Amino acid sequence: MIRFFNTLSRKLEPFRPLDPGKVKLYTCGPTVYDYAHIGNFRAYIFEDLLKRFLKFMDYEVIQVMNITDVDDKTIKGAQSEGLELEDYTKKYIQAFFEDLESLNIDKADYYPRATEHILDMAKMITGLMNKGFAYRQDGSIYFRISKFPNYGRLSGMDLAKLKPGQRTEADEYEKESVQDFALWKTKKEGEPFWETDIGAGRPGWHIECSVMSSKYLGQTFDIHCGGVDNIFPHHENEIAQSEAYSGKKFVNYWLHCRHLIVDGEKMSKSKGNQYTLRELLEKKHDPAALRLLLLATHYRKMLNFTFAGLRQAEASLQRIRDFIYELENRKFKKEENKDIPKLVEKTRKKFIEGLSNDLNISVSLTALFEMIRRVNINLAKEKLGPKNAEELLSLIYSFDKVLALLPEKEKTSLSVDIEEKIKAREKARAEKNYELADKIRQELLESGVVLEDTKDGVRWKIKKSK
Ligand SMILES: [Zn+2]
Repeated sequence: MIRFFNTLSRKLEPFRPLDPGKVKLYTCGPTVYDYAHIGNFRAYIFEDLLKRFLKFMDYEVIQVMNITDVDDKTIKGAQSEGLELEDYTKKYIQAFFEDLESLNIDKADYYPRATEHILDMAKMITGLMNKGFAYRQDGSIYFRISKFPNYGRLSGMDLAKLKPGQRTEADEYEKESVQDFALWKTKKEGEPFWETDIGAGRPGWHIECSVMSSKYLGQTFDIHCGGVDNIFPHHENEIAQSEAYSGKKFVNYWLHCRHLIVDGEKMSKSKGNQYTLRELLEKKHDPAALRLLLLATHYRKMLNFTFAGLRQAEASLQRIRDFIYELENRKFKKEENKDIPKLVEKTRKKFIEGLSNDLNISVSLTALFEMIRRVNINLAKEKLGPKNAEELLSLIYSFDKVLALLPEKEKTSLSVDIEEKIKAREKARAEKNYELADKIRQELLESGVVLEDTKDGVRWKIKKSK
């Protein structure tokens, strides 16, 4: 059974999706006013692990990740560079998708953009006004939190501190200043605006996620994720807007990951310790190692990023790669080691147990590396057979559906198909049927596999497609 820690109940809860076998997942996406930094990617990698694990456990996952391309930050950024909002956000949207690819993050099913859903937002705001949950003040429209008794449940806020009648236009504010927040901000000089039924203006940040989640996942869905800094006010406000509007429970499971700090300190631009992914890649760090580093700490623990830690992750990754290389390239004797199937089963069980327990990745990774250690001992003693190797490889590649650390090249190398074709070609050559041998080589080449005849036999590699 899979269990998650639900921020809403502050408890570990068994996971039961609304539709058995199907998970609807909403993950707050980037605000595209800058390049995403490693702290942002900690959250995206945690969400990727969650999604990949659910898929590994045979759930169908429908994921929505919004792109916030209009809010206080993007507008400020565009103004300071003298650009139209769209021209300003364009380059960060593109960079974001490139970064996802570098880190091998599985693509969401939908990436809705706020600016493409303004009319839907106006519609929800109208509904909230009709029900008395929203009111207009000086042209802008605010959510009346005193009308929503459940306000504060997610963040555990003390409603006694609530100051009715006070309101804020800012998208982000402190917990201490809980107050009515802007759903719609009336048109201002120098700011982008949209003409709608509720007037000319632009949406507040929080309404964006309420609208885009329900549009693609329905008014009630299974999991909503983000970083802990999203709990207040962003997610608290999403719940208020969505539940006030629909009269239904918004989300069943809220999962939040903790911060990333750098060298024990809070990340900040002024300290120069706020690394973007591209900065680390420019320094020739391996994106897969960074992925492993961001994965390897349980998502509800603080992650302290250090370059020593990154080098350690690089070494761990190398251990996995060396292990695969050995299993794929060594000539094994016929005799099988009877202990290996038991080890494989035990490791698989532990791996799943760890992740099933609120994504406790440490348990899963420990099981994997312990298996590698034990098999390496057997490798050194030449106590491994070809079937053993095959079974071990197939386990590692199945784990990699969750971990996503291995490049495509290594993944496809398992393909029995290729191995069989190579054998057929060798047989043809031994029988001096060079025509057939060439034909097989050509077939493999067309599917991107290059053969190399070496002194030690045939080796093969995947031809880079780019
Ligand atoms: Zn959001």
